[in-house]
Amino acid sequence: MLRMLEFNILSGGNVSIDLTKCKSCSTKACIRNCKSSKTRPVLVLKDGVPDLDFGFDELEKGACTECLACELDCQLYGNKAVIIELTVS
Ligand code: SF4
Ligand code: SF4
Repeated sequence: MLRMLEFNILSGGNVSIDLTKCKSCSTKACIRNCKSSKTRPVLVLKDGVPDLDFGFDELEKGACTECLACELDCQLYGNKAVIIELTVS
């Protein structure tokens, strides 16, 4: 099983999800407020853990809007598995 889900984002940062914490998560809260710049969310549930509905190249070009909802909802309601690193200029 994949243990880490990681992808780069437009601003130069990245999103990482520690999937080892996700199987036991009862809320899957990261999924519900994920808003992509496209017509569907970035994060989808697959086999009980988050997965990506876009390719890495699309995510890096802005499909992930860097809204931080997945990180905040996971911190509040999930198992604290999401870390979003943003670059500071
Ligand atoms: S809310 Fe957090 S712990 Fe739960 S499935 Fe999503 S990323 Fe994993
Ligand atoms: S930062 Fe926002 S758009 Fe990007 S994966 Fe997380 S919830 Fe979805």
